[in-house]
Amino acid sequence: MDRETRILAEVAARGGLATDTARALIRVPTVNPPGACYREVCEGLAARLRGLGWSVELLRASGSPGDSDAFPRWNLVARLEGTRPGPCVHFNGHHDVVEVGQGWTRDPFGADLSDGRIWGRGAADMKGGIAAALAAAEGFRAACPDFRGAIELSATADEESGGYGGVAWLAERGHFDPARVAAVIIPEPLGKDRVCLGHRGVWWAEIETRGHIAHGAMPFLGRSAIDDMGAVLHAIETRLKPALSARRTAMPVVPEGARAATLNINAIHGGAPEPAPGDTGLPAPCVADRCRMVLDRRVLIEEDMDAVRAEVAALLAGVAAERPGLDWGLRDLFEVAPAMCPPEAPVAAATAAAIARILGRDAAFVASPGTYDQKHIDRIGRLRNCIAYGPGRLELAHQPDEWVGVDDMMDAAAVMALVLADFLA
Ligand SMILES: [Zn+2]
Repeated sequence: MDRETRILAEVAARGGLATDTARALIRVPTVNPPGACYREVCEGLAARLRGLGWSVELLRASGSPGDSDAFPRWNLVARLEGTRPGPCVHFNGHHDVVEVGQGWTRDPFGADLSDGRIWGRGAADMKGGIAAALAAAEGFRAACPDFRGAIELSATADEESGGYGGVAWLAERGHFDPARVAAVIIPEPLGKDRVCLGHRGVWWAEIETRGHIAHGAMPFLGRSAIDDMGAVLHAIETRLKPALSARRTAMPVVPEGARAATLNINAIHGGAPEPAPGDTGLPAPCVADRCRMVLDRRVLIEEDMDAVRAEVAALLAGVAAERPGLDWGLRDLFEVAPAMCPPEAPVAAATAAAIARILGRDAAFVASPGTYDQKHIDRIGRLRNCIAYGPGRLELAHQPDEWVGVDDMMDAAAVMALVLADFLA
């Protein structure tokens, strides 16, 4: 039997390991926010990995956003040492899941196994991916016990809320330093035939217009911040948005609509506050002296963050020039730079080649419209050789009746095992 046949047979023999691991992870309701049961999920996985001979560390991201004694931010980092020096391949998956939401016909934490699928919150995003990575590592190790280098597996907190108590925290402590890690695969549910090279960037900002309060019966004695914001909105619709949709990226972002720069207005608040539920009182007549808008601008890799900011500031200055006396402010809330691994980078090329071997068709290179933990590995860790590749369908993420197919998990595990062979055999 040649090496590849041996690896594939050993991976295929680990269907039970993959299924049991995924189900055990799903049964722990690691809902974020608030970030529940992180210790429990890490301890369960740690016991399994130690039983298989991995060395395991549990690390609490003390002081990170959201970390408290009630909801500590626990992370797991496990390592399997080879028999001789060589590169380290790291699989990273987040163990947190989003809220359950409405519309389920299954127990969201029951981890039912039926119709060849495992059902539950986090099945696709991304506990099935963590389980597939473990089956890949164990299958590869059984077939190539004298492998070089090392395999690492981490299960990390808070990806759904920015990853600051998870991958960012580990990256700041050198866990993704290119001096010790050669390649990272994040088994997010991009689909078993797609290699995700990276993601667009984000800039969130708040625009404020400031007016002057007056009696609503004599609005000419005040200045309405809402009217001013209306002019800003109009400028966004008629000037900014057409310019953004004309700007296209060469990154293979899916869906196609996200290959343009995009802008969403997440919220507008101005004037009298919303009445509390059950409040039957009438509002008081006032001219609004404050109005705030939150922008969600998605940034292409070809764009410059400072230019993105300056474009909005220039738009506001333009509106102000047409409306004498308009007082505006612009405040940064959050930003993430775009990240992309070149398709010819070793981990991307090895994964694409393995997909072609296992599935008999060419891999698709894609990029994500929103961000995920690759940003921290890229920006803080300074490691470019990083992709997202894993089983599960992206459109099921965060949906009711989320599931992952057992066959998809095992195909993705076979692909990941061949990538391990590429680096470590
Ligand atoms: Zn995810």
